[in-house]
Amino acid sequence: MASIVSTRSSLQKRDNQAESYSIANTAQQELGTNAKHELAALLQTTIEIEPLFELFFGQVKSLLKLGSCHFVNQVKDIKLKLGTVSAHNCDYSLNIQQQYLGNISFTRKHRFSEAELAQLENLLSTLVYPLRNTINYRDALNQALRDPLTGLGNRVALDNSLEHQWQMAQRYEQDLGVLMIDIDFFKKINDTYGHDIGDDVIKHVAECIKVTTRQTDMVFRYGGEEFLVLLNKTTTLGSSIIAERIRENIENLNLVDAKGQLIKVTASLGGTHLKAGSSKSKLVQEADKALYLAKEQGRNCVTFYQAETVTTQTV
Ligand code: GH3
Ligand code: MG
Ligand code: MG
Repeated sequence: MASIVSTRSSLQKRDNQAESYSIANTAQQELGTNAKHELAALLQTTIEIEPLFELFFGQVKSLLKLGSCHFVNQVKDIKLKLGTVSAHNCDYSLNIQQQYLGNISFTRKHRFSEAELAQLENLLSTLVYPLRNTINYRDALNQALRDPLTGLGNRVALDNSLEHQWQMAQRYEQDLGVLMIDIDFFKKINDTYGHDIGDDVIKHVAECIKVTTRQTDMVFRYGGEEFLVLLNKTTTLGSSIIAERIRENIENLNLVDAKGQLIKVTASLGGTHLKAGSSKSKLVQEADKALYLAKEQGRNCVTFYQAETVTTQTV
């Protein structure tokens, strides 16, 4: 009960139609205690954000004849939309102590009465703690999947995504391209400028790959100065265009040291495409083989794997 009180006090109402709002007024509303307890128990059954909102909205929409529920947390890039938007809306900022959880808004065909708004707030008080748990869980999961230096996905994330993309590509007969990218003579960069500058170079290259690829492409830090890009629904031609663009943009990074001297950074790229009957691990091996050849052929170039031969795109 104590948690419900503190939760309720953290709801900041920003309704555009009610005249005033008093937390104290929301105390014991028409909603039966049992229904509220049932809802609270139901919301404990998931630790993931989407199912949480589906459960919550599934319960409250019929009680209050709601049309839609939108939840947004811009900082954490969470956006959920359930139901169909109607004319009248109310909007809340959800917080627990100092932690901002997000904004939730509801719409429906008819105006909300004060009593209904109070009832909605009462129900929302059951949502905030489970919501915080799902957000914290999501953060922890993201952290476990992210490389701390670059913010890119790590090897665990890559394994998950590769499995998923590979499955999708097989099932729907879609193209799937893989690029392996390795910074050239990176050891020399470390030796010349020090490890910290080396780290900065890795960060800039990571960012460069990220901004050069499309939103749907997935970029991972594969190892020290190696990156892997998954290009879903991308033709061979599309992959080679993206690969060459990445190579070019890395070459044009224009990074300078403390004295303003240019730090020459280039990378070599190896690429491949999913072929019928090919395995996930084979995809990565093929990209790696192509990368090896790009290194052999002088670096700062793109090479694609084709059966047991490889073709050089740029030297
Ligand atoms: P190549 O062109 O053949 O790829 O040569 P290279 O020097 O880039 O490759 P090599 O494998 O010889 O060296 C990679 C270096 O990257 C060695 C390692 O110390 C360094 N390295 C790996 N991870 C990090 C990191 O997180 N930060 C920094 N600064 N250096 C790293
Ligand atoms: Mg390497
Ligand atoms: Mg290297």
